Amino acid sequence: MIGERSEPGARQYPRAVAGVFDIVTTDGFEQVVYLHDAGTGLKAIVAIHSTALGPALGGTRFYPYASEDDALVDVCRLAQGMTYKHAVCGNDLGGGKAVIIGDPATLRSEALLRAYGRFVEGLSGRYLTAEDVGTTQADMDVIRRETTHVTGVSESLGGSGDPSPATAWGVLWAMKAVAERMWGTPSLAGRHVCISGVGKVGSALAGHLADEGAKLTVSDVRQPAVEALVERHGAVAVAPEAAHTVPCDIFSPCALGAALNSTTIPELRCDAVVGSANNQLASIADAERLRHRGVVYAPDFVANAGGVINIAEEPHGYDHARAYDRIRTIHDTLLRVFERADLDGVTTAAAADQLAQERIASVSRTRLIRTRP
Ligand code: NAD
Repeated sequence: MIGERSEPGARQYPRAVAGVFDIVTTDGFEQVVYLHDAGTGLKAIVAIHSTALGPALGGTRFYPYASEDDALVDVCRLAQGMTYKHAVCGNDLGGGKAVIIGDPATLRSEALLRAYGRFVEGLSGRYLTAEDVGTTQADMDVIRRETTHVTGVSESLGGSGDPSPATAWGVLWAMKAVAERMWGTPSLAGRHVCISGVGKVGSALAGHLADEGAKLTVSDVRQPAVEALVERHGAVAVAPEAAHTVPCDIFSPCALGAALNSTTIPELRCDAVVGSANNQLASIADAERLRHRGVVYAPDFVANAGGVINIAEEPHGYDHARAYDRIRTIHDTLLRVFERADLDGVTTAAAADQLAQERIASVSRTRLIRTRP
């Protein structure tokens, strides 16, 4: 069994496999490709969930999975997530993802990355890769030596560089949408935001919020990252395990996934949750738990789409100003999500899924229009 349907319009989540065709057929994946190169030890899986809106774009995760099945479930779950993320944010891209199985600390080599790049080239542009957990911009530059079907390469190679600042800019505009809905103005001046995880995205977000005049509380397991923001922006520090309990206007999970679960949700003391972390909900039931508690939740794949919107601008010849203008549309998208959730009486997570599904269905239909006699 691949997933479960918990409320109308909600997507099914890949979670266990009986076999590759089980996933491919049950959840409508277009293609799952296994890559192997004995010389370099490369073992990778590319999952293309949907190319209905365009070539499948998603990062390459380099991770020591305990088993091949774990890797397959993860790559499929992530590829499916990319379909929804691109669709809801208006990208002309489909959902795909890749995983390289192994510990990047020991297995990463120029030869392995180039072998991987050659396989990606062999997919002829149906799949475009990018950086993800365990891979870096430098890795993308190596892969670029073998294929043009790679994004997020260095700016000197014509790429858009590290997506984190763009992601932070998008989260800021998601917060403005939430502010508009809750307090009738997009201004965040005087609002109290608690950020959990001040790495690349969280620290850039803290800078934007300080510029807006917001009051900041920050936490991270890395103390120097916290101290830098206390010094730079007068932020207040809080222990990582207590961040979600801080009384504030917006709680912003910017660390790892599953920050919102049956234990943490009852302890929240915020009006809204808006963050960059992927898979913030431990389970889909947590969307309903948040709604029940009256906490406004900005679905993670809407709020954190700034990075992929930025990358989607690369094939047109990357232009920073144009990309950042597009990222601001996350504000409007989120307001549409809230409207739909109100209208249909569903959670914001389900509403965002529905908007994505509708765009895929309606744009796919235009392919039936003949362009040649
Ligand atoms: P990062 O690794 O730079 O930052 C994550 C930070 O979280 C680190 O500083 C880490 O020390 C901290 N952290 C880890 N465990 C913690 C805990 N229990 N409590 C508090 N802090 C903790 O990663 P990033 O690029 O800033 O991404 C942050 C999140 O946003 C991730 O979930 C990532 O998947 C997601 N995301 C990032 C991007 C992007 O463009 N970088 C895009 C979309 C989604």
